Amino acid sequence: MASGHSSSTTQCPEQGERSRCQLEIGQNVYVVAQPWKQELLIHIRKFDSDKGKTFPTKQGIALNLKQWVELCGCKSQIDETISALKQGKDETLVKHLGANVHASMDKNFTGVDLRQWWWCDEMKSVKPSKKGIFLSLQQWEKLKGCFTVMCDFVPELNSSVPCAMQDDHQNQMGFLQCSFCTPNGYHQ
Ligand SMILES: [Zn+2]
Repeated sequence: MASGHSSSTTQCPEQGERSRCQLEIGQNVYVVAQPWKQELLIHIRKFDSDKGKTFPTKQGIALNLKQWVELCGCKSQIDETISALKQGKDETLVKHLGANVHASMDKNFTGVDLRQWWWCDEMKSVKPSKKGIFLSLQQWEKLKGCFTVMCDFVPELNSSVPCAMQDDHQNQMGFLQCSFCTPNGYHQ
């Protein structure tokens, strides 16, 4: 195990809800792996403190392991878009991480936006919601470091494969019928 004070081996249910790691990526934003209702979530979240107590704010995103794997998978595509934007190119990247969570970037902001989107029936497209967090380029750099070490804290990631790689997704129907990959039904 990576840390000697890890509580992951304990049987105590209360301790089971404790976070497995809390990695700072700058400006009070932390990457926290924490079980929630039988599911392990990886939060990228801004924390605040008051009277010596630190607490999570609403500004952030909770990714399940499948979404985390997707985010790790589009690391180089995000980096390529960053360097294109730095060269002044008009690039836009919108990556679906599953269940309407998107990583996006365009020339209007220099950073990576991680956000829950929602299906707008009128527009027949997905729209960004207020639930999410915008990461600066410095925070993105640090988050990439977390991609590497997260497997130490969350060994389950070693056996996680992208949803689209699963056997039942090998034909397009499986992909379109998956509520994770195609969360808003199939629209032509
Ligand atoms: Zn799927």
